Amino acid sequence: MTRGPEGAVVPPPAVPAGRGAVSSVIRESLAYSARENMVSFAGGLPAPELFDADGIRASYDRVLSRAAGRVLQYSTTDGDPDLRTALAERLTGRGLPAEPGSLLVTSGAQQALWLLAGTLLEPGDVVIVENPTYLAALQCFQHAGAKVVAAPTDRHGIVVEALDDLVTRHQPKLLYLVPNFQNPTGHTLPVGRRQELARLAATRGFWIVEDDPYGELSFHRSAPDWIRMDPVAADRVLLVGSLSKVIAPGLRLGWLLAPEPVRDLCVRAKQALDLHTSAVDQAAVADYLANNDLDAHLKRVRAEYLRRCTSLLAGLPDALPAGSTWNVPEGGMFVWARLPAGHDAVALLPHTVEQGVVYVPGAPFFATDADPRTMRLSFTTHEPDVITEGLARMARAFDQIQQP
Ligand code: PMP
Repeated sequence: MTRGPEGAVVPPPAVPAGRGAVSSVIRESLAYSARENMVSFAGGLPAPELFDADGIRASYDRVLSRAAGRVLQYSTTDGDPDLRTALAERLTGRGLPAEPGSLLVTSGAQQALWLLAGTLLEPGDVVIVENPTYLAALQCFQHAGAKVVAAPTDRHGIVVEALDDLVTRHQPKLLYLVPNFQNPTGHTLPVGRRQELARLAATRGFWIVEDDPYGELSFHRSAPDWIRMDPVAADRVLLVGSLSKVIAPGLRLGWLLAPEPVRDLCVRAKQALDLHTSAVDQAAVADYLANNDLDAHLKRVRAEYLRRCTSLLAGLPDALPAGSTWNVPEGGMFVWARLPAGHDAVALLPHTVEQGVVYVPGAPFFATDADPRTMRLSFTTHEPDVITEGLARMARAFDQIQQP
């Protein structure tokens, strides 16, 4: 190693190569979304006009006028007791009896994923994921130094028969799943597969991280029971939830329901990370939940998302080339489409941008064997007439390039 002469200025240490960097394709698509007059099917953004800004403002006013000294003060890492009680009551109401003491409030579900990856995984541990899966979860696992193994999926989600062999070969520490209206595919895992997964986790000894930010956005009937509700696996399923899609993502509020040893580890890691999630935001949302009918609000959101999804699905046959396929989601925010052979959704993007419409190519969501023909279309951001206009622009882009 070279040393500068005594007192001489030497360069700073090298910055380590980035681990789990966001795919540049996705960064690009999201940057295009911000352009003026762009129709965006790209970001998974809730409809802004459905945010209950008046209700949320009233809650901030109330907590600041009644308890400013408490809500503007440092708070506990576990989370606001009133908020945890309200969340536990919602879980119990949905058939999963939960105690406030089993919950940890996090800064978005994303932080819960980061905490779980950072506390449970050692470098080299194997994490099995659906292929494709939520990209920012992949980043958490990669950051923790884990080895990600992709499990095959079909139009219902992860193929459980294939898992048995993967588990034998790789001895995973953790299986990561988005069971309801998955990001990016919109798939919902059927009840039977959930039961088989619970049994597999119980007999083969791995954690299941059940990440469910979209479960309350079901169009027609309630989403199937959480895997966490299966008594066989209750002590090894780590359930992650979010208020981003049910109230507003800017609040950055999520939660983790986990057995005490895991919750405790995460509390200690969170102490080191940010001490606690914003006390005033938590208090305002606890007040909001106590004084508003969230279920009535969600009923409106679901009806509007169904209307937008229906208009996207109705326009796709004319927008995409013949031979394209897509799923019909039962809720959530995404349609997953696949172009015919010879097409490439990454190469297509600059052409649709030129026409004023943007989507996210599907390839970056794959842990392995990326399918270049796939694309994720979010239907929640725009009103139906804008969706129709976006699809007309998409059709023009295809006309222009006449792929393949
Ligand atoms: N998990 C999944 C599957 C997601 O799609 C997202 C964000 N869209 C998150 C977690 C993070 O959500 P939050 O806003 O609560 O951090």
